Amino acid sequence: MTDFLHNRSVIDAHVHVHPDMAAGLADIMEANNLTRVVNLGILEARGIPFQDGMRAFRRALGDRMVYFTTPGFSDISPGFGERMAEDLERKVEAGACGLKIFKELGLRHRATDGNLISVDDPRLDSLWAKAGELGVAVLIHTADPLTFFQPLDENNERWEELREHPDWHFGGPECPDHDTLLAQRNRVIERHPDTMFIGAHLGNYPENLAYVDACLERYPNFCVDTSARIGEIGRHPADEVRAFFIKHQDRVLFGTDLVLGWGAFDDSAQKDMAEFKRFYNANWRFFETDEQQIEYPGFPVQGRWKVDAVNLPEEVLEKLYVRNAQRLIPGLSE
Ligand SMILES: [Zn+2]
Repeated sequence: MTDFLHNRSVIDAHVHVHPDMAAGLADIMEANNLTRVVNLGILEARGIPFQDGMRAFRRALGDRMVYFTTPGFSDISPGFGERMAEDLERKVEAGACGLKIFKELGLRHRATDGNLISVDDPRLDSLWAKAGELGVAVLIHTADPLTFFQPLDENNERWEELREHPDWHFGGPECPDHDTLLAQRNRVIERHPDTMFIGAHLGNYPENLAYVDACLERYPNFCVDTSARIGEIGRHPADEVRAFFIKHQDRVLFGTDLVLGWGAFDDSAQKDMAEFKRFYNANWRFFETDEQQIEYPGFPVQGRWKVDAVNLPEEVLEKLYVRNAQRLIPGLSE
């Protein structure tokens, strides 16, 4: 891949960066014209005390990082939704700018009766309502790629990846299916019109642009990000993808799912600056050129196919890269 010159300022609205890696992130941001990042849920996910983590982020990055907190599901005794709402309020007061929901909701977290807690469990309504009241968005990851819900054998397109990470496979009888999970999420969005929901990974249905289009049409309080799904998005005919991004130019946020210091499966410490540069360049190349059959960011881990770039118009790029995140996420406006 030849070097692709990119000289725009960009907000990456979907990263997971451990406080210990914040200084490294500052270098990556500098090298790739990232002015701000939105860091999601890593403090709670890694058990790092909130104030300590926030202090470390501020020291390394000042106002160049905003943080979304995520609720803990270890205590699900009665009143857990209300307690999550109170915790969100406290953390927003202490500097959090939004709420992150990981895919474990709907797939892993269980109530005291042993049943899965569904995404639209009414006990969580006070949490969604609180986010709206506080004026912070909910970045919600529900379900996963379709293939993760299909039988796990050599016919599965992501067999190699799933063989490495069998816990990412949700095709067993104990798991709700992909469409059931998205329907649960949609009921939450519908019930809370005053809360803004950002569907991670193109609303987790990049395989079906018509479905995502219908959700965006139906719910004014719904937006999506592009994180970790250019491989899927770019498999559709480029003119269809381009039309989607132009139609929904006020509703799509740029994000990558950059992970630094997550833990066991994360090899970011071994990566050098050139690798991060290649990763971001693959993003710019997809959105800003009309090249065909190029490698998507993260190729070939998520599959060995290539994608066609979509060459978005200038004003659409500006909204995707900067303006939509600034409008939706407190702490990012200039
Ligand atoms: Zn993520």
